Amino acid sequence: MSTSGTPPAALIDLADVRKSYNMGLSNEAEVLHGITLQVARGEFLALIGPSGSGKSTLLNIVGLLERMTSGSYHIGGTAVNALDDKALTLLRRDTLGFVFQFHHLLPAFSALENVTMPGLIREGHVSRQQRERARELLAAVGLANAMDKRPSELSGGMQQRVAIARALVFDPPLVLADEPTGNLDTASSDEVFVELRRMHKERGTSFIIVTHDPRLAARCDRLVELVDGKIARDEATARTAPDPGSPVPAPTDTPADRPDGH
Ligand code: ADP
Ligand code: MG
Repeated sequence: MSTSGTPPAALIDLADVRKSYNMGLSNEAEVLHGITLQVARGEFLALIGPSGSGKSTLLNIVGLLERMTSGSYHIGGTAVNALDDKALTLLRRDTLGFVFQFHHLLPAFSALENVTMPGLIREGHVSRQQRERARELLAAVGLANAMDKRPSELSGGMQQRVAIARALVFDPPLVLADEPTGNLDTASSDEVFVELRRMHKERGTSFIIVTHDPRLAARCDRLVELVDGKIARDEATARTAPDPGSPVPAPTDTPADRPDGH
């Protein structure tokens, strides 16, 4: 898409982005005060900061779920401000995957059906190809043996791994995760984090991960800290440990072993 000679556009390019809530009312409040941030393709970035500092608001703007009040935002070189809601929806669909603190899996459906759901919604049916892709993704996050299980039959960590597979089903260049381990104990957090890191490494997907957990933040490549709606810190992490994608053993990662005979 880029003209030869010009460097490729940053995946995410925010310039002086501001966001106010309750515009024109007595309780009008600006919660993002001029955010300038660029994220390149393939980054694995932690967004940290105190509660109420604006992390979710920023992620929702980056995710095209909320509009900014002023400033500019380009995603893959496309100016977001000029787009109408329909164009935003299409851009979101083709560019972004989401993982939230609460997995939002549909309880009546199996893990596999939950991962094929975005395709069903988009196309009106699930093609064989999409089903295969969903199976591959579930196997990739260590759930080869759990595809037919409903969310209630899975642990919290496994539910989040289904949500990761679902976020990747259209192979978006960027996945946004808002406290994806916020509901989990330490062991399950690690399990989910390892899968995010693995997907980054294996597929080259970029990740922006909001986390409260300094241990996990330190295992990302770049740390952006928001304080009171401003970027207070933006630095490469000094990761001394080896890539956490490899040394931690993956739980139930045995796709060849299907004791249920399916
Ligand atoms: P964080 O995710 O860092 O905890 P948020 O982005 O959720 O922070 O919130 C930042 C600030 O914006 C908070 O003061 C919050 O109360 C306020 N806020 C968030 N969403 C809304 C909204 N829909 N209406 C009014 N204020 C909001
Ligand atoms: Mg939040």
